[in-house]
Amino acid sequence: MSEEPSISPIKLAIIGGGLAGVTLANALAQHDHIVVHVYESAPQFSARGAAVGLAVNAQNALHHVLPHASELLENAGGVPMNSTRVMVGAGAYMNQLARDHTGTKQGLVFHRASLLRELLRSLPEDSLHTNKKLNNISEKDGKVEVRFTDDTSMICDAVVGADGIFSTVRDHVLRDLQDNQNDCKASAAGFWDCRNLVPFERAKATLGEQYFETHRQYVWVNDGAVTAHDVCENGNTVQCVICAVEGDPAQDRSRPLTRELLETTLKSSLDRAHTQGMIELLLDQPSPKAYSEWEHKATPTYASGRVCIVGDAAHATTPWQGSGAGLAIEDAMVLAALLARVRSANEIEAAFQAFSDVRQPRCQKVIDSSRETGTIFCGRHPAAGLDPERLNEALTTRWQHIHGLDHDKHKSEALAKFEAYRVTTWP
Ligand SMILES: Cc1cc2nc3c(=O)[nH]c(=O)nc-3n(C[C@H](O)[C@H](O)[C@H](O)COP(=O)(O)OP(=O)(O)OC[C@H]3O[C@@H](n4cnc5c(N)ncnc54)[C@H](O)[C@@H]3O)c2cc1C
Repeated sequence: MSEEPSISPIKLAIIGGGLAGVTLANALAQHDHIVVHVYESAPQFSARGAAVGLAVNAQNALHHVLPHASELLENAGGVPMNSTRVMVGAGAYMNQLARDHTGTKQGLVFHRASLLRELLRSLPEDSLHTNKKLNNISEKDGKVEVRFTDDTSMICDAVVGADGIFSTVRDHVLRDLQDNQNDCKASAAGFWDCRNLVPFERAKATLGEQYFETHRQYVWVNDGAVTAHDVCENGNTVQCVICAVEGDPAQDRSRPLTRELLETTLKSSLDRAHTQGMIELLLDQPSPKAYSEWEHKATPTYASGRVCIVGDAAHATTPWQGSGAGLAIEDAMVLAALLARVRSANEIEAAFQAFSDVRQPRCQKVIDSSRETGTIFCGRHPAAGLDPERLNEALTTRWQHIHGLDHDKHKSEALAKFEAYRVTTWP
């Protein structure tokens, strides 16, 4: 009779406590043989930014990793996106409806901080460490040492970098790919954006009651820019967004948001009251800022030895297809499925390689399609312009490859690769 192989505990450090790191920590906490600690550089765990939408692929991935996913999503105050209405905001077809997308599987819109709060709630306090900024990583004798800027360090079996777009862990993973280093750095995607969260009643009074009869997302396609709003926080808050093409990307990622910049950007639709309302709402915040959108144009691998990267550290994307956080949740699903199979630290490398193999092509495809979606929403796509019919055509199938993920198949592909690597490469 063959005996079940024994399983050794695995000590794993997650660097970065944003949505990617904390979702992964939740997913790994379901497996007794994995001991997880999360190291966050900030003095507290906090989600910067405004709202975040979780589409059906992201929600399903969360259900795959967390038994209490439904409760968590509800407690985080998710508002169902009943539909997304794309309107033409400028040109000959101004005010015409281009597309009214209603799906049977609705996306949910959250205030980021609420989603992070609920994800943190179920993690043991002693596994969460703040004021721990990673300085460097070294791998030796099958162990990984992480050193922090406060001169402390710890040794573990594996490290997962969830430290965002300018990830230190990413630099470590890609350190040997010197020739490609520049391509691998985050760079400007050709758009900038600004956003503000405003009380629901204020948005309704400023933009027009007709846009708030039901909770839906509105997107107005202008010439070179887009305005959009959606409802979050149990219907109490509206996220207002203005994005535009960026001709000559500035080296600094943010700059003050001025009325002059907004009026120049939206000159093709300034005579619409809705546009004027959006400008008022965007400027009505302390020190309003415009941010360049940056992304990873190329990432040859997400893994090196006992270190790998997830979330924006691996695949930062523009927000046009609302998918960055969703991809991070999918990462957690796949990585947790793989690490659940790992019987000892020697097999981690095989798991990380399998993770990279299945996740890299999917995530890069989303980065590339998201950038192109930006040109459609900004009214600058050659096949669509500001024509409602052509806009509808251009947008109709754009989300299929994202929302249509077969989660079980995706996990099975990763597990098959892991088994192959485990047998052939790592003893
Ligand atoms: C404007 C905008 C709108 C978006 N809208 C959507 C949307 O609707 N739907 C969607 O799915 N996605 C959306 N995204 C993408 C989504 O927000 C990100 O993909 C997601 O939040 C990434 O999470 P993360 O944890 O990987 O990175 P981050 O949120 O950047 O977290 C990284 C964490 O690591 C910490 N850290 C950094 N360096 C170190 C270090 N050296 N040591 C320790 N800790 C460190 C940081 O302090 C931070 O807490 C949007 C993005 C933007 C910019």
